[in-house]
Amino acid sequence: MNSAKWRLLFAYAFVLGIVILLFGGALVIGLNYSFNKTLENSMQAVVADIKNEELIHLKKGTIDTKEEFLLSPIFIKIYEETNNENKPVLYTKNMENLHFPKELDIGFQEIEIPFISQEDEVAVLVNQVTVNNKRYKIVIATPIEKIDDTIEIFIGWLLFAGLLLYVIALILGYRVITRILSPVRTITQTAQTISKSNLSKRVPLPDREDEFYQLAKTFNTMLERLEKNFDKINRFNVHVSHELKTPLTIIRGEIEVALLKDRSIKEYKTVLQTILEETKSIQSIIETLLLLSKSDTKALKKRMLPLSLDTLILEAVEEKRQNANEQSINIVIKELESVTIVGESTLLKRAIANIIDNAIKYSPPNTNIEITLNNSSDTILMIKDSGYGIPSDQIEKIFDPFYRIESTNEKRVQGQGLGLSIVQWIVKLHNAKIDIESEVKKGTIFKIYFNKTD
Ligand code: ADP
Repeated sequence: MNSAKWRLLFAYAFVLGIVILLFGGALVIGLNYSFNKTLENSMQAVVADIKNEELIHLKKGTIDTKEEFLLSPIFIKIYEETNNENKPVLYTKNMENLHFPKELDIGFQEIEIPFISQEDEVAVLVNQVTVNNKRYKIVIATPIEKIDDTIEIFIGWLLFAGLLLYVIALILGYRVITRILSPVRTITQTAQTISKSNLSKRVPLPDREDEFYQLAKTFNTMLERLEKNFDKINRFNVHVSHELKTPLTIIRGEIEVALLKDRSIKEYKTVLQTILEETKSIQSIIETLLLLSKSDTKALKKRMLPLSLDTLILEAVEEKRQNANEQSINIVIKELESVTIVGESTLLKRAIANIIDNAIKYSPPNTNIEITLNNSSDTILMIKDSGYGIPSDQIEKIFDPFYRIESTNEKRVQGQGLGLSIVQWIVKLHNAKIDIESEVKKGTIFKIYFNKTD
């Protein structure tokens, strides 16, 4: 009974039960009240009748029974009040030798009078009137058995109808609740069938655009994100395995060939040299992956200190100058304002050096790389090359690990596609933003927007 459906149904049944009970109770009380009121009014009419007729021309003895609604049989006795004594003057035949209790209060009441009714109480109206300067006490009584019987029958019907209504409302309520909650069941069933291997499945959207529709939609959006991330991770894993497999295959091949027969020291040295290069490559891939997966950026942020960005850029340029010269590429510092930012110098230098490195790798000889550091409205570092450029539809992707644009790598440039992933990671670590403007065969501008510290 832990399901929301049953909890809702119980709450509904409880509230409905209370409403029906209150309504039934109010009906019974109202009916009882209106019967009593009608009874009292009828008795008052009889009193008025007696006052206007029998008492004006008083002839002592019996009087006729009065025909009034609900007053059958009727018991009437009229006493004349003289000096503390009540003398009966008029009465209906059924009261000839009988007396009402002396201590009756004035007004309408329901009391027990055994000679009128053994089982139920009796409705009694006591009134004092003065006619022809004489004071009379008029007592009228009638059994209320019939009224009680009528109310009992009414309660019986009310119970039957109420119960029937209750059961019908419960059945309808159950069906409505089941219908309203049906999308939840569908969502749960679909969610249960979704696993890593079929993330492409989606929850069917309910027809009505209600909260469950929103839930299903949110659920589908989450699945979409999960699917994309799983795809990314899968591709990443394939790339990592591939990148590590290539140097390992080369190393294994070199060793196997070397072991086929005895070799000269020079030959062994050449093999070892190749192995060393490939090991360096594996090491570099692993180091980069470790860096990218570092989740403890808090520790790195603690190492951030104020540093001179312009000096850092100069150092990165000097690191890459020889490489550029070898490719007949000229690095020009166009503008270098003095800027202090808070950062981690080793990482930041690595990011700048990576961008310069790419500018060298993806530019033809005899071109320039221009560097600008501007601190006017924003702190912007711009590294502009006149190289092969990046097709606009791939600009977003080049930050993905292992992503390389082979078609534009006209020089068959060496690389693993990890450089820009690191750049982006470092830029994010410094709460900075990176932007690329590029045109194929014209060149590329990398812009990094740093947070101003002053
Ligand atoms: P890598 O240089 O090792 O391939 P990166 O992550 O540094 O890896 O760069 C990813 C890809 O982006 C490169 O393969 C290249 O195709 C493209 N790219 C990066 N920088 C430039 C640039 N300055 N000009 C043209 N293409 C670039």
